[in-house]
Amino acid sequence: MTQSTALPRTMAAVVCHGPRDYRLEEVPVPRSGPGEVVVEVLAVGICASDVKCWDGADLFWKADGRRGAYAEPPAVAGHEPIGRVVALGEGAADKHGLQIGDLAISEQIVPCHQCRYCRRGQYWMCAMDHVYGFKSCLPGGMAAYMKYPAGALVHKVPADMDPVYAAMIEPLTCSIHAVQRAKIQFGDTVVIAGCGPLGLGMVGAARLTNPGRLITLDLRDNRLAVARRMGAQITMNPDKEDVVARVLALTDGYGCDVYIEATGYVEAVPQGLRMIRKLGRFVEFSVHREPVMVDWTLIGDVKELDIYGSHLGPYCYPLAIDYIHRGVIDVAPIVTHTLPLAEFARGFEMVHAGTESIKVQLQP
Ligand SMILES: [Zn+2]
Ligand SMILES: [Zn+2]
Repeated sequence: MTQSTALPRTMAAVVCHGPRDYRLEEVPVPRSGPGEVVVEVLAVGICASDVKCWDGADLFWKADGRRGAYAEPPAVAGHEPIGRVVALGEGAADKHGLQIGDLAISEQIVPCHQCRYCRRGQYWMCAMDHVYGFKSCLPGGMAAYMKYPAGALVHKVPADMDPVYAAMIEPLTCSIHAVQRAKIQFGDTVVIAGCGPLGLGMVGAARLTNPGRLITLDLRDNRLAVARRMGAQITMNPDKEDVVARVLALTDGYGCDVYIEATGYVEAVPQGLRMIRKLGRFVEFSVHREPVMVDWTLIGDVKELDIYGSHLGPYCYPLAIDYIHRGVIDVAPIVTHTLPLAEFARGFEMVHAGTESIKVQLQP
């Protein structure tokens, strides 16, 4: 094992104990076993899913018949960290291509490497579904240090990347994957519904495909302003105008070619089905609080739509690292707040309210 300096024995960490029960605690600093990497966490984003788990969403706390509840407390929260390598277990340097002092990020899911999906390279749908920060067996990055296990998919990050930008790599991978799913063609009218951190990353990624029109929707004008900075040509606020009518008017009554749903609002699904043209492509990204009811006849008989799901950011880490590093996608306007780890509760409340903040990061 190689190690930079002697690590402290304990560290501050945000530990999930249950809905609305997250505590700043002193916990042991992880040690690196064979193939494992320990990093000092420089920054970690608060994800909408962290806040949904904190808020008690069924997705995390209710057993669904196939399995028990997803959340298995006590768990150190956080899956959007960037870290600096401080310890490498036996063989980890070669395995992950890392040295002490490197910036390094682990993909948010740690695959089992054995299930049907992992064996076929579809690791982001791994049957074990182990994402950092929700289970006691896989502590996350809302802590001074964290461990990337031997099975983690770890990527080296350029040494000169600002940690605030580097902590945007994980969300940007999810944005890039959603845009890849949309299979945007030259000339397409693309609508991205929802300008949270993920939707804004999708705007940045969709712009690279050079669509005919890039339209974004959000209920908050401050977010629409950031969307324009990220490359949206037209922005609309559904609270202030009939967005379906306007998209139809812009497209000679046909509707948009692509609709990507990233709002988290149930109403955005039927809205999309109304504004999308026949044979259009609909990408569903949001995690909804409750089941969404829509007229499925629209999907088949009326429009023959292609409906795509999108989950995580498989094979997108090298792209996200490169786009951020070269400034091809500027994530700076997305990060509105950085808080010390001890103020995590304020950060969670800010993300929950979603009024003034877009991406909130914690700095351990
Ligand atoms: Zn996330
Ligand atoms: Zn697996």
